[in-house]
Amino acid sequence: MSVVGEVTAANDRYASAFAKGDLPMPPGRKFAVVTCMDARLDPARFLGLEEGDAHVIRNAGGLVNDETIRSLVISHQLLGTEEAIVIGHSGCGMLTFTNRDVYEKLGPDSEDIDFQPFPDVAERVRQSVETIRSHPLLGDSFGATGFVYDVETGRIDPV
Ligand SMILES: [Zn+2]
Repeated sequence: MSVVGEVTAANDRYASAFAKGDLPMPPGRKFAVVTCMDARLDPARFLGLEEGDAHVIRNAGGLVNDETIRSLVISHQLLGTEEAIVIGHSGCGMLTFTNRDVYEKLGPDSEDIDFQPFPDVAERVRQSVETIRSHPLLGDSFGATGFVYDVETGRIDPV
């Protein structure tokens, strides 16, 4: 079966038992998670989230960059979240290359893009937390906490 066939079949099963069609748009538990797109991470499962609980913002590296700030400002100012949890992880692919590596591999068309690799996960999470705490549109009352998820144990540890 193709990937599309697989996911539509899985969705048929999900929708056949679905009973949460009346959830409000604002996250019920009033927080947002920022984490990596890594396929080994399932934040809903490792953080105990149900539909309607939290915003989950994902990108390569779980970075708090301009795009993440856009989402967090909407999350907080328009949809009422009160804190963010930033979660990097062990074995992140973003540790394994530099921009120069990518430019050499992909050629000049790639050189306008900063792929935003980083050498230290915990340090990058600390920077992300600080970016959130100091952002004028996220306010002093908006909290930010950082963790690193261990892909070998499934545990999160504070940074
Ligand atoms: Zn990653």
